[in-house]
Amino acid sequence: MVSVGAAARLTAYWKQNMLKYCKHCVMPDTKPDLLIDEEGVCNACRAYERRRERLDALEAKREIALICAMAINPPLSWPMMKDGPA
Ligand SMILES: [Zn+2]
Repeated sequence: MVSVGAAARLTAYWKQNMLKYCKHCVMPDTKPDLLIDEEGVCNACRAYERRRERLDALEAKREIALICAMAINPPLSWPMMKDGPA
């Protein structure tokens, strides 16, 4: 039978030496240059998240610009805009 102290040491050793996997991409932390943060997400996924946020913001800006341009100069194909802006 394993003593309580030995079991605790074994558990601690196992936790320390167990492979960690990224929660998003499931890459193990044995991959070179891959760091997994305290939330269990790797640096590659974090970099992607930051890039995605910038792209989303850029896309939203473009959409707003398009809506503004259409409000100022509505396409003639819009039936309610036949007479031009009020
Ligand atoms: Zn990842």
